[in-house]
Amino acid sequence: MRTSQLYLSTLKEAPSEAELISHKLMLRAGLIKRLGSGLYTWMPLGLRILRKVERIVREEMDKAGAQELLMPAVQPAELWQETGRWDVFGPQMLKIKDRHERDFCFGPTHEEVITDIARNELRSYKQLPVNFYQVQTKFRDEIRPRFGVMRAREFLMKDAYSFDASFDGLKASYAKMAVAYANIFTRLGLKFRAVAADSGAIGGDGSQEFHVLADAGEDLLAYCPTSDFAANVEAAEALAPTAPRAAATETLRDVETPKQTTCEDVAALLGISIERTVKLIALVAADGQFVIALLRGDHSLNEVKLGKLAGMGDFRFATEEEIRSTFNCPPGFLGPVGIAADIKVIADRTVAAMSDFVCGANKPKFHIAGVNFGRDLPEPALVADIRNVVAGDPSPDGKGVLELCRGIEVGHIFQLGTKYSKALNATFTDVDGALKPFEMGCYGIGVSRVVGAAIEQNFDERGIKFPQAMAPFEVAIVAVGYHRSEAVKEAAEQLYAELAAAGVDVLLDDRNERPGSMFADMELIGVAHRFTIGDKGLADGVVEYVARAGGEMQKVALAEVPAFAK
Ligand code: ATP
Ligand code: MG
Ligand code: MG
Ligand code: MG
Repeated sequence: MRTSQLYLSTLKEAPSEAELISHKLMLRAGLIKRLGSGLYTWMPLGLRILRKVERIVREEMDKAGAQELLMPAVQPAELWQETGRWDVFGPQMLKIKDRHERDFCFGPTHEEVITDIARNELRSYKQLPVNFYQVQTKFRDEIRPRFGVMRAREFLMKDAYSFDASFDGLKASYAKMAVAYANIFTRLGLKFRAVAADSGAIGGDGSQEFHVLADAGEDLLAYCPTSDFAANVEAAEALAPTAPRAAATETLRDVETPKQTTCEDVAALLGISIERTVKLIALVAADGQFVIALLRGDHSLNEVKLGKLAGMGDFRFATEEEIRSTFNCPPGFLGPVGIAADIKVIADRTVAAMSDFVCGANKPKFHIAGVNFGRDLPEPALVADIRNVVAGDPSPDGKGVLELCRGIEVGHIFQLGTKYSKALNATFTDVDGALKPFEMGCYGIGVSRVVGAAIEQNFDERGIKFPQAMAPFEVAIVAVGYHRSEAVKEAAEQLYAELAAAGVDVLLDDRNERPGSMFADMELIGVAHRFTIGDKGLADGVVEYVARAGGEMQKVALAEVPAFAK
């Protein structure tokens, strides 16, 4: 490919709606264009990257014995009514009607459809095990689409579904997928961690998530550096010996990024009045319940007075000790308390839930966010991510202490068992002649999210540093003076032809631009390796080499470049 033929649309500044670095860089590099909330066009350059991810995913799925098929994106309501999920899936599901007023949805996932295939196609244990996968567009009407393709409404997922005759079979199919996933993320060149996503057992073999490690990740992970314990924080909490489970996480995690609001705004929303000297420092939640923490005086921990709303407009102040005992907080739990000039409010739904709570008689359990976001925690942080598992807690396996880190969920594997096969009456005849429901597993990868996650982990002030496997091009040849120097043109064309013939994914920058802006573009879009050809170097028979990953510029003899680039 030549830049003169490539549609490049790089920008100096990111559009202001982008908060996260990956979103900004994807827009600046012209990889994606926004169509509407959570809806993105993959431009040619971006699509090259997406396709590279897809290719690796497909290769590893095929290698693991899975078979690709393609199911419809639009699915009839009847199937979802059979499993009962039509009513319980909730507002994430985009429901649509056809011209006959029949109900459909745009698939947020495909368990129902694949189980329907299985009940019609798979009749005998002899056909098992089998694993079907697809790479298909999903639609989830996320309450707050954000971060570009990382939390989009329409996105690309690889979803696989395994069918086995027995639970042991399911465990084997699941284990194969765990290996395939590790291979995929390794080949993509990403730093990742597989974590238990349920509390079934230590090591959580019923469900695991694969997270790309990045400070901006929405998910909090707990792991033990001296053992192989690793779990998402919800699973870790359920196993933690000391801490009560925060049952509200699911709801809260899906409730969205805290929005910045002043105390006055919150007071107005709640219909209460507060003294100006009182800072409302946090809204806190667990078990679906909410309290407000208030900060007074000189903001030091000892001076902190925390209270809960005993009723609308009625504060009851309490000492730190009292709060600890009332709410069963472990020691050290309230710190560090920072000063937030503005508090973070989880928007409207929280306020509604809070009003419910403060008017009710429930005794709350809670977690205190006395935290100054941006200073104590990375932005954007969810208030709901303040947990009762903290760094230094004993690991549930008893083999050390926990550390916490942030991750972006890029994959999720799950032992479904017979949940869907029973609901849809999907059975096969086993060796003994008995009719049995399939043991199922499901396995997802957010293919489009992977691209954003990779950037979140690999960038610098000049742009994206894609790992080679995902780079839009492996090699760029920047030909400085292509349009005025025959020697440069000839050498560049020859090198380009040789690299292309050797199977290198190479981009020849043959534009008539200033070298600085050509370099800037190649760096912004994340080409992995750059060779610069200019008259001066050619006189000595050399070109300049720079790796996007970092390192010094090197001079390489022109004749050695093809071998060097391999
Ligand atoms: P999340 O917790 O981030 O909402 P999820 O647990 O709802 O994700 P799954 O149902 O496990 O998602 O779907 C499989 C994969 O699809 C996820 O691991 C993630 O990589 C990807 N994914 C889910 N929702 C989105 C989205 N809105 N945009 C992009 N990718 C997504
Ligand atoms: Mg979700
Ligand atoms: Mg999740
Ligand atoms: Mg998931």
